[in-house]
Amino acid sequence: MSSTCEPPGAFHVMAKPTGAKCNLACAYCFFLKKDRLYPGDSFRMSDDVMERYIRQTIEAHRTPGVVIAWQGGEPTLMGLDFFRRSMDVERKCQKPGTIIQNTLQTNGTLLDDEWCEFLHENKFLVGLSMDGPREMHDRYRVDRAGRPTFDRVVNAVRLMQKHKVDFNILCTVNAANGDHPLEVYRFFRDELGAEYLQFIPVVERVSERGFQEGREVTERSVLPEQYGRFLIDIFDEWVRHDVGRMFVQQFDGTLMAWLSGQSSLCIFRRTCGEGVALEHNGDVYSCDHFVEPDYFLGNIADKPLAGLVGSEAQRRFGQRKADLVRQCRECIVRFACNGDCPKHRFISGEPGLSYLCPGLKMFFEHVNHPMQIMASLLRQGRPAEGVMQVLSDEEGTAARVGRNDPCPCGSGRKYKRCHGRP
Ligand code: SF4
Ligand code: SF4
Repeated sequence: MSSTCEPPGAFHVMAKPTGAKCNLACAYCFFLKKDRLYPGDSFRMSDDVMERYIRQTIEAHRTPGVVIAWQGGEPTLMGLDFFRRSMDVERKCQKPGTIIQNTLQTNGTLLDDEWCEFLHENKFLVGLSMDGPREMHDRYRVDRAGRPTFDRVVNAVRLMQKHKVDFNILCTVNAANGDHPLEVYRFFRDELGAEYLQFIPVVERVSERGFQEGREVTERSVLPEQYGRFLIDIFDEWVRHDVGRMFVQQFDGTLMAWLSGQSSLCIFRRTCGEGVALEHNGDVYSCDHFVEPDYFLGNIADKPLAGLVGSEAQRRFGQRKADLVRQCRECIVRFACNGDCPKHRFISGEPGLSYLCPGLKMFFEHVNHPMQIMASLLRQGRPAEGVMQVLSDEEGTAARVGRNDPCPCGSGRKYKRCHGRP
C-alpha cells in the first residue's frame, strides 16, 4: 500500500455499480472485457459499498460542489430502487452548504417514464451514448442479440425531453461515422434537439485482455486525420452559427486553453489523476481507462477514498502524463494538447507520441484564430457569441479584398499575410 499525500479538496469518482456489465454489446466497447478481472462475480454494488462511496466522497470534499457520478457498464441495470436508496444516503450525508450534482451515463435503452420522473426530480445530469443517425449508430451499437438500438435510444431522448431531464450526448467517433461529421452534428442539433455534445474518439487497441496494450488498432477505430477533420468540420459550422446555443465539450475545453493556458479536459491538461474509477465491489483504480491490476489503488472498505485519491501511487500516475517526447515538448500547440491522454501514446516508431497526434495538431492549429477572438471577447467581459459576427465581417471583407491587396486593418502587410491568413 502506498503512502498518502495531502488529499485533494475535490476529486471525481466514476462509480460503476454493475462493473463492466451491460445489456448491450457495442462492438467497440472496451469495458466488456473488463469482467475478466472478477471471474464469477455478480457485478452488483451492495448498499454497503454504495453508502461508503457517497459518504466518503461528501465527507472528503472541501468545496461546496460535490459530484456523485454513476456509469458502467450500464448503471440502470441496478434498477431504480438502488438509486432511490442512494438519494436517501445523500440526504443523510449532505453537509450544510454543499450542493450535490448527480450524473448518470447510460445507453438509455432501459429508461421509461418512471426513471425520467426520478431523474428530473433529483436533477440528474444524464450522459446518453449515441453515435449519430440510424445507420451510423446501429453500425456498432447493438444489443446482445445483435439487434439495432437506434429506436430505443431516440425513445430515451424523447422521454427525457418530455420530463425535462438535462442530458448531453456522448458520441463516439469511429470508422462508421468518422467521414460524416456534419451529418452527425446536424442530426443531433436539428432532428434530436440536443444542445450538449461530446465527441470521443474510438481508439481501440488489439488486446485480448482489453487492457491498454498492443500497438495495432482495430478497423473500427477512427484514423488520426479523420478525427481531426471530423472536429474541424463541426467546429467551422459551430463557430459560424451555433456559439452560445450548442455546447461541444471539446470546443469549450479548448477555449479554456486559449483563455487560461490549459484545457479543462483531463486528456489535454499537463497532469491528470483527479478522477478515479470505483468498481462495484469498492475497488478503486487510477482512471476509468486504466482499470487494470497495475493501476489498482485499494478498496474503500480498507482505506477512505480521499486517501486513495491522495496516495503517492495516484500522484505518480497523474504526474507521468507530463513526461512528453521531444516532438510534444517542441510542439506549437502543446499548451492546448499536452501530448493527449497516456492511453493513446502507443504508436510504434515514436514511443510516447499519441496515436491521434496528426489529427489533434490539425484541429488545434485550425481553431487558433477563432479561439483567439473568443478568448479576447471573454477577457473584455463580452460574450463569446460575438465571434460569429467578427468572422462574418472578416469573411465579407475577404470577399471584397484581393489576397495581394494591402490588409484593410492598416498593418501595411498584404491581406493574405495578415487578417486574410487561413
Ligand atoms: S489517463 Fe487519460 S482519461 Fe485518465 S485521467 Fe489521465 S488523461 Fe484523463
Ligand atoms: S499535437 Fe501532437 S506533437 Fe503536439 S502536443 Fe499534441 S500529441 Fe504532441
